[in-house]
Amino acid sequence: MKIAIDDGHGMETAGKRTPAFSDGSVMRENEFNRAVVSYLHDELIRNGFSVMLTAPEDTDISLATRVQRANDAHADYFISVHANAFGSGWNDASGVESWIYSKKDKDTLDAAQKIQSEVIKETGLKDRGIKESGNSLGILRDTKMSAVLVECGFMTNPQEAALLKSDAYRKKVAKAICRGVCLHFGVKYQEEGNQMEKIKVILLGKEVEMMGVKVIDENGNVTNCVTIRDFAEQTGYKVSFKGATPILERA
Ligand SMILES: [Zn+2]
Repeated sequence: MKIAIDDGHGMETAGKRTPAFSDGSVMRENEFNRAVVSYLHDELIRNGFSVMLTAPEDTDISLATRVQRANDAHADYFISVHANAFGSGWNDASGVESWIYSKKDKDTLDAAQKIQSEVIKETGLKDRGIKESGNSLGILRDTKMSAVLVECGFMTNPQEAALLKSDAYRKKVAKAICRGVCLHFGVKYQEEGNQMEKIKVILLGKEVEMMGVKVIDENGNVTNCVTIRDFAEQTGYKVSFKGATPILERA
């Protein structure tokens, strides 16, 4: 399954930024979109999807080119990540909404509903629902595969702008979108750090590899868990099992 992911606009696209924060700085929409797309890329790969980026360059890539690239790559699904705006000054418009070409396309609607509801669950923001773009959004009209455009909060809302700037929020959104994609395609979502991998261990001065998992807690602390068999065998034990209980004896 190939997923095309799109970071919405270029960094220099006119408008498409927050109003000025109290320190005079602004956040450009693409800073958010790009970061989420990058996390989403890793999330989807970890969950076994193949991924193409519609606009990996730093320069502005036209919407038509983004669509063309996704079509040429024969992507199975298309996700465009955005941050919303209401007017150009600070105001209290808020929440998350997803856009699709037409609600009559049941498959597209189902995927969008799953993504929208996972993003709401993960972020706790107001649910503005699924909206139909009709012909107004070329990126949804001209993509040949099912497509969704997710507006992940308002740049013009002070609280949401602060979230949109934070790395933790960007990661949450990426994770939620990936969970929605997994639900739609019937793939069991894999939490980060739950796959067995080769873990390097320096054992009595010698570098060895053991199979295990890296468990990462919410503060980002990593715990290396290696399998008993690998650890025992490499430290001179023989391993057998009594039911599920490992028995270690000197080899
Ligand atoms: Zn946008």
